[in-house]
Amino acid sequence: MSSATIDKLQQFIRQHPRLLVLTGAGISTASGIPDYRDEKGAWKLRQPMTFAEFAGCHRARQRYWARSALGWPRFDRAQPNEAHQALAELENLGFVKNLITQNVDRLHQLAGHNNVIDLHGLLHEVICLDCGAIMPRQQMQEALLTANPVLTEMKVTQAPDGDAHLELFDFSSIVIPRCKECDGVLKPNVVFFGENVPRQRVEFSLQALQRTDALLVIGSSLQVFSGFRFVRNAVQAGKSVAAINLGQTRAEDLFLFQVREHCGPILTELARTLTE
Ligand SMILES: [Zn+2]
Repeated sequence: MSSATIDKLQQFIRQHPRLLVLTGAGISTASGIPDYRDEKGAWKLRQPMTFAEFAGCHRARQRYWARSALGWPRFDRAQPNEAHQALAELENLGFVKNLITQNVDRLHQLAGHNNVIDLHGLLHEVICLDCGAIMPRQQMQEALLTANPVLTEMKVTQAPDGDAHLELFDFSSIVIPRCKECDGVLKPNVVFFGENVPRQRVEFSLQALQRTDALLVIGSSLQVFSGFRFVRNAVQAGKSVAAINLGQTRAEDLFLFQVREHCGPILTELARTLTE
């Protein structure tokens, strides 16, 4: 990383005291949570399950929860990395007013960040599709393992949402725990592909955007519309947008500039120099 890069980012942050940060999967890869997409924004593995599939098909839910049960322990153990820590420090120093994340891993909060909007929800919660009751994912995990001892015996690789790949497993025997309140269908409390971000959360996020004078995108290729929308709205409102992202993004022509590097070392150096 060059000192010119740090200077440019430092200047951007100092010029915009009401900074909004938008983070994506790239900030959590160093915590061992893999990204779905490669540096060009293309799918690395198969496309994740859509909301329509999940909500409409018991078989799909059996597949989802079996994989999720296997990937969960590793996901749950993930810890914030230097990028999360540096951003929490920048918030503490008053340089970051709001943070919106597309990640569902709550690693910003674990790093001590206070003002975080979890745009796509949190994998640590489970919601009932029928009555809206919310329960901890850990509780679901225990219920899943109790109902399906076979899951305790298996080990596999995993995708970013805690979803593991089990190509040859017969999912039809998987028993899915149901809502304790109403016996309804349970879903991880995250926004699935093909599902809209809850309206209230979008409005809350857009209000945060209105109150800021610039947007800094970190570790997101902005392929998903819910993230891209913030860049488009910011530019339409005459606000500056910069990015720190290793690969291509969907919004490059809208940026004031983009730093193509790993975000961890850059943010650490920024926090250090801004403290001086
Ligand atoms: Zn319910």
